[in-house]
Amino acid sequence: MESYNSFQVAQHQVREAARLLHLDQATIELLSWPQREFRCTLQVRMDDGRIDNYHAYRIQYNYARGPAKGGIRFHPDETVDTIRALASWMTWKTAVLDLPLGGAKGGVCCDPKSMSLRELENLSRAYIRAIAPMIGVDRDVPAPDVYTNPQTMAWMMDEYETIVQRHHPGVLTDKPQQIGGTEGRRDATARGGVITVREACMLLGADPTKGFAIQGFGNAGQRAALLHREMLGGGKLVAVSDSRGAIFRAEGMDPEELVMHKLKTGSVLGFPGVKVIPHEALLELDVEVLYPAALENAITADNAPNIKARIICELANGPTTPEADIILNRKGIHVIPDILASAGGVTVSYFEMVQDNYSWFWEEELVHARLDSKLTRAYRAVQEAVREKKVHPRLGAMVVGVARVAEAAKLRGWV
Ligand code: NAD
Repeated sequence: MESYNSFQVAQHQVREAARLLHLDQATIELLSWPQREFRCTLQVRMDDGRIDNYHAYRIQYNYARGPAKGGIRFHPDETVDTIRALASWMTWKTAVLDLPLGGAKGGVCCDPKSMSLRELENLSRAYIRAIAPMIGVDRDVPAPDVYTNPQTMAWMMDEYETIVQRHHPGVLTDKPQQIGGTEGRRDATARGGVITVREACMLLGADPTKGFAIQGFGNAGQRAALLHREMLGGGKLVAVSDSRGAIFRAEGMDPEELVMHKLKTGSVLGFPGVKVIPHEALLELDVEVLYPAALENAITADNAPNIKARIICELANGPTTPEADIILNRKGIHVIPDILASAGGVTVSYFEMVQDNYSWFWEEELVHARLDSKLTRAYRAVQEAVREKKVHPRLGAMVVGVARVAEAAKLRGWV
């Protein structure tokens, strides 16, 4: 069984890209470590009157290209290394998309499911009080991540504005639209992924109207199901899964009905006319496109040899282990790596920062068009690196991202 420290994986990926780019040792050292790390313990008043302590982090991995950017997780299993890894991946993701941003991530070790709404609000406000000196539109701009959402951002923005005593909506993104959020954020990650699938199909001569499967029918997965059909002119959704189970129907399922079913019952299980299949079987189906949209390490050296999809679009962060990557590449499966495939969200977050700055908000169509243009360019830049360096797409994407950050660092005289 493979077992990984995700930060070691992230460092390995940087060094591999750096080797292909012939970067000097000083640059490799700079890019292998976070530039700034902050740890603290938050004191939060609970509903029964007692005070609980929570360990919290904010890590700004690299800000050579602009203010650091990345989400905040509320999760019991967060460690300094998981946050370092996620902050590293944000750095390469914003660079691959050519956004004028760096990369960051934050987290609080807590169990949000066991906390009341008021306790979560107290925690959110305590966190922002702790990190206020290091964030801002020109420093670091957080966003939601696992178990945080637009409501969390609204509390955090309010706390920040109370501290600085002025209106400052761009300090956080993915806010509700009524207080500075943007059109087009809710489906941005899935939309970005589907745009890259469209480009991949054109490149490979693949047919997006054939079968596709989605692992993880949450925010990203549900929207990918709807948008795949809408944007690519059809496609049979033959299988989906969530944490409770996986379902299959060879003739395809109606994504809209499935979304309604999941909304009503809380699971994809029980959808009429389908067969329940084991979780692992979904990943091994003979489909044109597979969207992993659940958790890390779904595709491993154990199941990669059995994967038959022609294209894998990684909407989830880190769904494929390094060993599995090599196997998929040998099998000729076209992997669209997470730092490209799931970059639609941060791209539209950047659009939100721009709109907040000008206090002038764009129509939804404009957000979609600009997202399409950014993702299409990024996909093509990665393919060019793949051809030029003769590497697999994940390494191609890392080469593009690492080269851009290294160049910015050199111009600044950091290396
Ligand atoms: P979510 O919590 O809304 O959805 C996750 C889904 O995966 C849930 O339906 C859950 O039941 C399911 N799931 C969990 N374990 C599973 C398993 N073992 N097998 C099958 N399904 C399982 O989360 P989300 O926002 O859709 O994010 C999904 C992934 O996409 C995460 O890796 C996240 O980091 C990544 N991502 C999301 C965004 C975004 O904007 N939402 C942006 C970038 C990356």
